[in-house]
Amino acid sequence: MNEITLMTPAKINLSIDVTGRLENGYHTVEMIMQSIDLCDTVIVEKRQRGISISCSERYVPRDQRNIAWQAAEAFFSMSPEKGGAHITLQKRIPVAAGLAGGSTNAAGVLKALNMLYGKPFNIAGLIQISRKLGADVAFCLRGGTQLARGIGDDLTPLPDLKGVYVVLVKPPFPVSTPWVYKNLKLDDLGERPDTEGIMSAIEARNIGFIASHMRNVLESVTVKAHPELSDLMNKLLEYGAIGSRMSGSGPTVFGLFDDLERASFAKKELLKDYQQVFLSETIGRGDVVW
Ligand code: ATP
Repeated sequence: MNEITLMTPAKINLSIDVTGRLENGYHTVEMIMQSIDLCDTVIVEKRQRGISISCSERYVPRDQRNIAWQAAEAFFSMSPEKGGAHITLQKRIPVAAGLAGGSTNAAGVLKALNMLYGKPFNIAGLIQISRKLGADVAFCLRGGTQLARGIGDDLTPLPDLKGVYVVLVKPPFPVSTPWVYKNLKLDDLGERPDTEGIMSAIEARNIGFIASHMRNVLESVTVKAHPELSDLMNKLLEYGAIGSRMSGSGPTVFGLFDDLERASFAKKELLKDYQQVFLSETIGRGDVVW
């Protein structure tokens, strides 16, 4: 086997709470993360040595700055077998959007290299390597529905919440995650999520409760700076979403729908004003196929 092709899924956040700030500047969080079927394609080819990247998206770096490159570098630094890789990224997940696009590519590269180089690591080993790359990579390695605590990499699997329609809108500007955390005021987070309540609703598959209780404290920074995101969430509700929030540090906002026709209608209407609108579906751990 010399080459592996993977579909690497994006995530949304059904809730984000920030519970503190550590001395090293990291924040502690409590969030419920959910994989969706909006995917990038990642092709990893075995090479004798060296790392190279080609990418369909012109604004994504093709060198050491690419987190997929860093994933390959981290893999080879820990793996008993040395080697190289050429990585092809076909991007569909919007960039700098709060959907973990880079992190999911990195997780895909780790899994692909592990398979190409004789499985030197189990999943715990890959998660250990992913700690160098960023907190979301651990979630992307596992996928499905997960409670993330600590700095975001302490994961507890929750029952799969599959088959919920999600309409996503990425407004035409990027948002930097470090900028959002730098501007976050812990004493002014706005309404905090009822994480326990949402977890019980996931257990009971009570989509109505989940949709109406989703909260994201990072909106206190991003939506304040870009108030049009609030209008966009209201628009999604007008078009029939049963709940709407910002994903991650934004600027993507999403609506949950229990009806495909309404979700398709919302997408059609939003495409009149926005270029990047997606109709997607939540997927389970087992659907994160590697
Ligand atoms: P998260 O939700 O994990 O914070 P995000 O969706 O907000 O991630 P990304 O799409 O991962 O953000 O992009 C963040 C930055 O990382 C961008 O400036 C982008 O240029 C850079 N980047 C590096 N590697 C990649 C990659 N493989 N795909 C997308 N962006 C990448």
